[in-house]
Amino acid sequence: KPIIAIVGRPNVGKSTIFNRIIGDRLAIVEDKPGVTRDRLYGSGEWSGKAFSIVDTGGIEIDGEDEIMKSVRMQAELAVEEADVIIFMVDAKAGLTHADDEVAQMLLRSRKPIVVAVNKVDNFNRLDDIYEFYNLGFGEPIAISGSHGTGIGDLLEAAVNLLPDKEEEVYEEDVIRVALIGRPNVGKSSLVNAILGEERVIVSNVAGTTRDAIDTPFERDGQKYVLIDTAGMRKRGKVYESTEKYSVMRALKAIERADVVLVLINGEEGIIEQDKHIAGYAHEAGKASIFVVNKWDVVEKDDKTMQNFSSTIRDHFLFMSYAPIVYLSAVTKQRLHKLLPVVNHVSEQHSLRIQTHLLNDVVSDAIALNPPPTDKGKRLRINYATQVATRPPTIVLFANDPDLMHFSYERYLENKIRAAFNFEGTPIRIFTRRKS
Ligand code: GDP
Repeated sequence: KPIIAIVGRPNVGKSTIFNRIIGDRLAIVEDKPGVTRDRLYGSGEWSGKAFSIVDTGGIEIDGEDEIMKSVRMQAELAVEEADVIIFMVDAKAGLTHADDEVAQMLLRSRKPIVVAVNKVDNFNRLDDIYEFYNLGFGEPIAISGSHGTGIGDLLEAAVNLLPDKEEEVYEEDVIRVALIGRPNVGKSSLVNAILGEERVIVSNVAGTTRDAIDTPFERDGQKYVLIDTAGMRKRGKVYESTEKYSVMRALKAIERADVVLVLINGEEGIIEQDKHIAGYAHEAGKASIFVVNKWDVVEKDDKTMQNFSSTIRDHFLFMSYAPIVYLSAVTKQRLHKLLPVVNHVSEQHSLRIQTHLLNDVVSDAIALNPPPTDKGKRLRINYATQVATRPPTIVLFANDPDLMHFSYERYLENKIRAAFNFEGTPIRIFTRRKS
């Protein structure tokens, strides 16, 4: 998916706009300690075009110098990663020196830029926005984060500037597998182990520079492409760059994958960062497998694996569907178990359930445990149908979608899983009005 970044000095309203764009979709927060505030990643869609959106954040500390430093960092990051930049300014504050400075950087970047003038509360009086023509990025677009006005126009403009990315065409029967996980978890080692030869240079140094690597291979008649995020790390940026860029690159890899291997360090256990990345795979509707690596160095007894599995389940409640594979990329212990699981979850990810079978399961579930009522009105589900695969997406037609509760949806999902499995893949369920 192409990336749109929102850049601007603190307090221009970036987060408000970001939240309006992603709507009720999940945002991924990157909360590495450091000078910057949380950085947010989300996804959005406009005119049928899906994109990732980044709120590059900003700092909440005083001092002109510090603010400029942070704005510069954000702008640099955006320039590096984004396909289109939304440069946000503030109609109430007018054009500031900080805006000018960001504009200079953005001008040099040659990236497509849309200027969004926020806090325009009266669309009948647009005089305030004219001075922003001076930034040199063409017509500024008036928006109001608090009223939600102008956001459609802004997205229209941004989406129109997105490059027509030539979709990488892989044949239908190829399974695209992304390896994600924090530095040193063993991504490159696992790539090497799977490929069976030293295709990638492995190093003990976190953040070693390598080029992006997509490796096609075939095993037992099945074609795969390995998407290795470890290969995409960068070196030499002044600020805590490695992590920031690697999150972004992991997100890109996930977008392109069918199956995501979420690598966990068996030696060190689970950390917050693992959750963010796994959460994105879930949110992006990809099939996932937890791969616990470095299992060779873990001191084990007969309960170790079971305990580790419960810890994973506790930390990733929302991904209870994802199988867990324990292995060692270095000794290749249990490695042979991985690809069969990849094949399995990929199959489940593209599973299509016949409508009459699905309806049998849904009506049995309803009979067993009737839908919720609200103010005397009961949800009535008339019909279920699977509208998409990868991930399996089910639409329930009902008298009043507002009566659907999260917990009831969960209940139905569990019943559907009990009947059809769908191991390794999230399921999307939507309720639509139709009586
Ligand atoms: P990446 O940053 O995720 O690509 O991690 P690397 O593949 O570069 O591995 C980081 C370090 O962990 C290297 O020193 C590897 O040799 C080591 N390592 C990777 N996998 C394993 C494993 O299964 N067992 C052990 N003992 N060490 C491993």
